[in-house]
Amino acid sequence: MKNKTMSGLFDLTGRVALVTGSSRGIGNALAKGLADAGATVVLNGISTERLEKAHQAMAADYPVGRVHSRAFDVTDAGSAAEGVAWIEQNVGPLDILVNNAGIQHRVPMLELDVKDWDRVITTDLTSAFLVGREAARHMIPRGHGKIINICSVQTDLARPTIAPYVAAKGGLRNLTRAMTAEWAASGLQINGIAPGYIHTEMTQNLVDDADFNSWILGRTPANRWGTTADLAGPTVWLASQASNFVNGQTIFVDGGMTVVV
Ligand code: NAP
Repeated sequence: MKNKTMSGLFDLTGRVALVTGSSRGIGNALAKGLADAGATVVLNGISTERLEKAHQAMAADYPVGRVHSRAFDVTDAGSAAEGVAWIEQNVGPLDILVNNAGIQHRVPMLELDVKDWDRVITTDLTSAFLVGREAARHMIPRGHGKIINICSVQTDLARPTIAPYVAAKGGLRNLTRAMTAEWAASGLQINGIAPGYIHTEMTQNLVDDADFNSWILGRTPANRWGTTADLAGPTVWLASQASNFVNGQTIFVDGGMTVVV
Protein backbone atom coordinates (compact mmCIF):
# COMPACT_ATOMS: atom_id res chain seq x y z
CA MET A 1 0.00 0.00 0.00
CA LYS A 2 1.34 3.45 -0.90
CA ASN A 3 2.11 5.83 1.99
CA LYS A 4 -0.49 8.32 0.78
CA THR A 5 -3.26 5.72 1.01
CA MET A 6 -2.05 4.57 4.42
CA SER A 7 -2.06 8.10 5.89
CA GLY A 8 -5.53 8.61 4.41
CA LEU A 9 -6.77 5.78 6.62
CA PHE A 10 -6.02 7.94 9.66
CA ASP A 11 -7.43 11.17 8.20
CA LEU A 12 -10.33 12.60 10.23
CA THR A 13 -11.13 15.54 7.95
CA GLY A 14 -14.86 16.30 8.07
CA ARG A 15 -15.50 14.18 11.17
CA VAL A 16 -17.11 15.71 14.26
CA ALA A 17 -15.67 14.62 17.61
CA LEU A 18 -16.83 15.25 21.18
CA VAL A 19 -14.25 14.74 23.94
CA THR A 20 -15.84 14.90 27.39
CA GLY A 21 -13.75 16.53 30.12
CA SER A 22 -11.50 18.30 27.64
CA SER A 23 -11.11 21.70 29.29
CA ARG A 24 -7.73 20.45 30.60
CA GLY A 25 -5.51 17.42 31.09
CA ILE A 26 -5.70 14.29 28.98
CA GLY A 27 -9.03 15.21 27.34
CA ASN A 28 -7.63 18.51 26.09
CA ALA A 29 -4.60 16.75 24.57
CA LEU A 30 -6.83 14.12 22.93
CA ALA A 31 -9.01 16.87 21.42
CA LYS A 32 -5.88 18.47 19.95
CA GLY A 33 -4.71 15.11 18.58
CA LEU A 34 -8.06 14.57 16.86
CA ALA A 35 -8.01 18.14 15.49
CA ASP A 36 -4.46 17.62 14.21
CA ALA A 37 -5.79 14.60 12.27
CA GLY A 38 -8.42 16.88 10.69
CA ALA A 39 -11.47 16.50 12.96
CA THR A 40 -13.79 19.28 14.03
CA VAL A 41 -13.80 19.03 17.81
CA VAL A 42 -16.18 19.93 20.61
CA LEU A 43 -14.59 20.57 24.00
CA ASN A 44 -16.55 19.87 27.18
CA GLY A 45 -16.31 20.36 30.94
CA ILE A 46 -18.40 21.68 33.81
CA SER A 47 -16.64 24.94 34.63
CA THR A 48 -17.73 27.36 31.89
CA GLU A 49 -14.84 29.69 32.72
CA ARG A 50 -12.19 26.96 32.32
CA LEU A 51 -13.91 25.65 29.19
CA GLU A 52 -14.06 29.09 27.59
CA LYS A 53 -10.33 29.62 28.26
CA ALA A 54 -9.51 26.22 26.73
CA HIS A 55 -11.75 27.00 23.74
CA GLN A 56 -10.07 30.36 23.10
CA ALA A 57 -6.57 28.89 23.46
CA MET A 58 -7.25 26.01 21.07
CA ALA A 59 -9.28 28.00 18.52
CA ALA A 60 -6.26 30.26 17.98
CA ASP A 61 -4.31 27.29 16.58
CA TYR A 62 -6.88 25.85 14.14
CA PRO A 63 -8.93 27.13 11.19
CA VAL A 64 -12.20 28.94 11.99
CA GLY A 65 -15.05 26.54 12.76
CA ARG A 66 -12.88 23.59 13.74
CA VAL A 67 -13.09 24.11 17.52
CA HIS A 68 -16.35 24.31 19.50
CA SER A 69 -17.27 23.91 23.15
CA ARG A 70 -20.32 22.98 25.15
CA ALA A 71 -20.42 22.86 28.95
CA PHE A 72 -22.55 20.07 30.38
CA ASP A 73 -22.45 17.64 33.26
CA VAL A 74 -21.81 14.13 31.92
CA THR A 75 -23.36 12.57 35.04
CA ASP A 76 -26.80 13.97 34.28
CA ALA A 77 -28.91 12.14 31.66
CA GLY A 78 -30.84 15.27 30.61
CA SER A 79 -27.68 17.37 30.26
CA ALA A 80 -25.96 14.62 28.24
CA ALA A 81 -28.96 14.45 25.88
CA GLU A 82 -29.09 18.23 25.53
CA GLY A 83 -25.31 18.42 24.96
CA VAL A 84 -25.30 15.81 22.19
CA ALA A 85 -28.42 17.35 20.57
CA TRP A 86 -26.72 20.77 20.60
CA ILE A 87 -23.71 19.32 18.76
CA GLU A 88 -25.90 17.60 16.17
CA GLN A 89 -27.77 20.85 15.48
CA ASN A 90 -24.95 23.36 15.69
CA VAL A 91 -21.76 21.55 14.68
CA GLY A 92 -22.82 18.50 12.66
CA PRO A 93 -23.49 14.78 12.92
CA LEU A 94 -21.39 13.33 15.74
CA ASP A 95 -18.92 10.75 14.36
CA ILE A 96 -16.55 10.30 17.30
CA LEU A 97 -17.17 10.31 21.06
CA VAL A 98 -14.33 10.10 23.57
CA ASN A 99 -15.69 9.40 27.07
CA ASN A 100 -12.82 10.93 29.00
CA ALA A 101 -14.30 12.97 31.91
CA GLY A 102 -13.23 11.44 35.19
CA ILE A 103 -12.37 12.11 38.82
CA GLN A 104 -10.30 10.47 41.54
CA HIS A 105 -10.90 10.27 45.31
CA ARG A 106 -8.26 8.75 47.59
CA VAL A 107 -9.51 7.40 50.94
CA PRO A 108 -9.12 3.97 52.59
CA MET A 109 -12.27 1.92 52.00
CA LEU A 110 -13.16 1.64 55.70
CA GLU A 111 -13.39 5.44 55.82
CA LEU A 112 -15.03 5.89 52.44
CA ASP A 113 -18.36 7.73 52.49
CA VAL A 114 -21.04 6.27 50.23
CA LYS A 115 -21.58 9.74 48.71
CA ASP A 116 -17.96 9.75 47.51
CA TRP A 117 -18.28 6.17 46.22
CA ASP A 118 -21.36 7.22 44.23
CA ARG A 119 -19.73 10.41 42.94
CA VAL A 120 -16.74 8.53 41.49
CA ILE A 121 -18.82 5.68 40.04
CA THR A 122 -21.24 8.15 38.45
CA THR A 123 -18.53 10.35 36.97
CA ASP A 124 -16.15 7.60 35.82
CA LEU A 125 -18.60 4.89 34.72
CA THR A 126 -22.27 5.94 34.51
CA SER A 127 -21.33 9.02 32.45
CA ALA A 128 -19.94 6.79 29.66
CA PHE A 129 -23.27 4.96 29.54
CA LEU A 130 -25.25 8.25 29.52
CA VAL A 131 -23.23 10.11 26.87
CA GLY A 132 -22.48 6.90 24.94
CA ARG A 133 -26.16 5.98 24.75
CA GLU A 134 -27.05 9.46 23.55
CA ALA A 135 -24.31 9.42 20.90
CA ALA A 136 -25.30 5.90 19.78
CA ARG A 137 -28.92 7.00 19.34
CA HIS A 138 -27.68 9.36 16.62
CA MET A 139 -24.89 7.14 15.22
CA ILE A 140 -26.86 3.90 14.82
CA PRO A 141 -29.35 5.20 12.19
CA ARG A 142 -26.35 6.54 10.20
CA GLY A 143 -24.60 3.14 10.35
CA HIS A 144 -21.25 4.38 11.65
CA GLY A 145 -19.58 5.91 14.70
CA LYS A 146 -16.57 5.55 16.99
CA ILE A 147 -16.76 5.54 20.77
CA ILE A 148 -13.55 5.52 22.83
CA ASN A 149 -13.79 5.00 26.59
CA ILE A 150 -10.82 6.27 28.60
CA CYS A 151 -10.01 3.54 31.10
CA SER A 152 -6.84 3.22 33.24
CA VAL A 153 -4.28 0.66 34.41
CA GLN A 154 -6.77 0.40 37.31
CA THR A 155 -9.06 -1.27 34.76
CA ASP A 156 -6.86 -4.31 35.42
CA LEU A 157 -4.95 -3.59 38.63
CA ALA A 158 -6.02 -2.44 42.10
CA ARG A 159 -4.28 -0.17 44.60
CA PRO A 160 -5.23 0.71 48.17
CA THR A 161 -7.33 3.87 48.80
CA ILE A 162 -8.94 4.16 45.35
CA ALA A 163 -11.67 1.48 45.48
CA PRO A 164 -14.43 3.37 43.60
CA TYR A 165 -11.99 4.37 40.85
CA VAL A 166 -10.80 0.75 40.46
CA ALA A 167 -14.41 -0.49 40.38
CA ALA A 168 -15.46 2.20 37.87
CA LYS A 169 -12.52 1.71 35.51
CA GLY A 170 -12.90 -2.09 35.62
CA GLY A 171 -16.58 -1.62 34.86
CA LEU A 172 -15.76 0.70 31.98
CA ARG A 173 -13.85 -2.08 30.21
CA ASN A 174 -16.89 -4.36 30.43
CA LEU A 175 -19.24 -1.51 29.43
CA THR A 176 -17.03 -1.20 26.32
CA ARG A 177 -17.72 -4.87 25.63
CA ALA A 178 -21.46 -4.47 26.35
CA MET A 179 -21.69 -1.53 23.92
CA THR A 180 -19.90 -3.69 21.34
CA ALA A 181 -22.32 -6.57 21.90
CA GLU A 182 -25.31 -4.30 21.20
CA TRP A 183 -24.04 -1.72 18.70
CA ALA A 184 -21.24 -3.27 16.59
CA ALA A 185 -23.71 -4.76 14.11
CA SER A 186 -24.94 -1.20 13.42
CA GLY A 187 -21.48 -0.17 12.21
CA LEU A 188 -20.15 1.32 15.44
CA GLN A 189 -16.71 0.56 16.87
CA ILE A 190 -16.39 0.92 20.63
CA ASN A 191 -12.97 0.53 22.25
CA GLY A 192 -11.11 1.59 25.37
CA ILE A 193 -7.76 3.23 25.93
CA ALA A 194 -6.14 2.49 29.29
CA PRO A 195 -3.46 5.09 30.02
CA GLY A 196 -0.68 4.31 32.48
CA TYR A 197 0.45 6.99 34.90
CA ILE A 198 0.26 10.24 32.93
CA HIS A 199 1.61 13.53 34.22
CA THR A 200 -1.41 15.90 34.45
CA GLU A 201 -3.11 18.15 37.00
CA MET A 202 -4.86 15.07 38.40
CA THR A 203 -1.52 13.37 39.15
CA GLN A 204 0.65 16.41 39.99
CA ASN A 205 0.58 15.55 43.71
CA LEU A 206 1.88 12.05 42.88
CA VAL A 207 4.67 13.40 40.67
CA ASP A 208 5.67 15.70 43.56
CA ASP A 209 5.75 12.79 46.02
CA ALA A 210 9.37 11.53 45.84
CA ASP A 211 8.57 8.01 47.10
CA PHE A 212 5.60 7.55 44.78
CA ASN A 213 7.51 8.97 41.84
CA SER A 214 10.41 6.55 42.30
CA TRP A 215 7.92 3.66 42.71
CA ILE A 216 6.29 4.62 39.38
CA LEU A 217 9.63 4.78 37.57
CA GLY A 218 10.67 1.39 38.97
CA ARG A 219 7.27 -0.17 38.21
CA THR A 220 7.13 1.05 34.60
CA PRO A 221 9.37 -0.84 32.12
CA ALA A 222 9.65 2.36 30.03
CA ASN A 223 11.04 4.05 33.21
CA ARG A 224 9.05 7.27 32.86
CA TRP A 225 5.65 8.87 33.39
CA GLY A 226 3.52 8.94 30.28
CA THR A 227 2.69 12.23 28.57
CA THR A 228 -0.63 13.30 27.15
CA ALA A 229 1.05 13.25 23.71
CA ASP A 230 1.60 9.47 24.13
CA LEU A 231 -2.19 8.99 24.03
CA ALA A 232 -2.97 11.01 20.88
CA GLY A 233 -1.79 8.43 18.31
CA PRO A 234 -3.79 5.50 19.73
CA THR A 235 -6.86 7.78 20.00
CA VAL A 236 -6.60 8.93 16.38
CA TRP A 237 -6.17 5.29 15.31
CA LEU A 238 -9.31 4.18 17.21
CA ALA A 239 -11.25 7.20 15.86
CA SER A 240 -10.26 6.49 12.26
CA GLN A 241 -11.05 4.00 9.51
CA ALA A 242 -7.72 2.31 10.28
CA SER A 243 -9.44 0.51 13.19
CA ASN A 244 -12.70 -0.47 11.49
CA PHE A 245 -12.47 -4.14 12.57
CA VAL A 246 -11.15 -3.42 16.08
CA ASN A 247 -14.09 -3.71 18.44
CA GLY A 248 -14.59 -4.07 22.19
CA GLN A 249 -10.84 -3.94 22.94
CA THR A 250 -9.06 -1.98 25.64
CA ILE A 251 -5.61 -0.85 24.53
CA PHE A 252 -3.15 -0.30 27.39
CA VAL A 253 -0.86 2.70 26.76
CA ASP A 254 1.16 2.32 29.93
CA GLY A 255 4.87 1.93 29.13
CA GLY A 256 4.45 -1.79 29.89
CA MET A 257 3.26 -1.41 33.50
CA THR A 258 0.50 -4.02 33.29
CA VAL A 259 2.67 -6.75 31.74
CA VAL A 260 5.24 -7.00 34.53
CA VAL A 261 5.18 -7.71 38.28
P1 NAP B 1 -8.19 16.24 34.95
O1 NAP B 1 -6.97 16.94 34.52
O2 NAP B 1 -8.59 16.30 36.39
O3 NAP B 1 -9.43 16.76 34.03
C1 NAP B 1 -10.71 16.23 34.25
C2 NAP B 1 -11.65 16.79 33.20
O4 NAP B 1 -12.95 16.16 33.38
C3 NAP B 1 -11.87 18.29 33.31
O5 NAP B 1 -12.03 18.82 32.01
C4 NAP B 1 -13.19 18.39 34.07
O6 NAP B 1 -13.94 19.57 33.80
C5 NAP B 1 -13.93 17.19 33.49
N1 NAP B 1 -15.04 16.73 34.32
C6 NAP B 1 -15.02 16.21 35.57
N2 NAP B 1 -16.26 15.90 35.97
C7 NAP B 1 -17.09 16.21 34.93
C8 NAP B 1 -18.49 16.13 34.71
N3 NAP B 1 -19.30 15.62 35.66
N4 NAP B 1 -19.01 16.56 33.53
C9 NAP B 1 -18.20 17.06 32.56
N5 NAP B 1 -16.87 17.17 32.71
C10 NAP B 1 -16.32 16.75 33.88
O7 NAP B 1 -8.12 14.66 34.60
P2 NAP B 1 -7.08 13.83 33.70
O8 NAP B 1 -5.93 13.43 34.52
O9 NAP B 1 -6.85 14.54 32.41
O10 NAP B 1 -7.92 12.50 33.44
C11 NAP B 1 -8.81 12.38 32.33
C12 NAP B 1 -9.26 10.94 32.21
O11 NAP B 1 -8.13 10.07 32.06
C13 NAP B 1 -10.02 10.43 33.43
O12 NAP B 1 -11.04 9.56 33.03
C14 NAP B 1 -8.96 9.66 34.20
O13 NAP B 1 -9.50 8.67 35.02
C15 NAP B 1 -8.17 9.06 33.06
N6 NAP B 1 -6.82 8.68 33.41
C16 NAP B 1 -5.91 9.60 33.87
C17 NAP B 1 -4.62 9.17 34.16
C18 NAP B 1 -3.56 10.12 34.64
O14 NAP B 1 -2.45 9.67 34.95
N7 NAP B 1 -3.83 11.42 34.68
C19 NAP B 1 -4.25 7.84 33.99
C20 NAP B 1 -5.20 6.94 33.54
C21 NAP B 1 -6.47 7.37 33.24
P3 NAP B 1 -13.84 20.90 34.75
O15 NAP B 1 -12.57 21.57 34.29
O16 NAP B 1 -15.05 21.66 34.46
O17 NAP B 1 -13.75 20.38 36.16
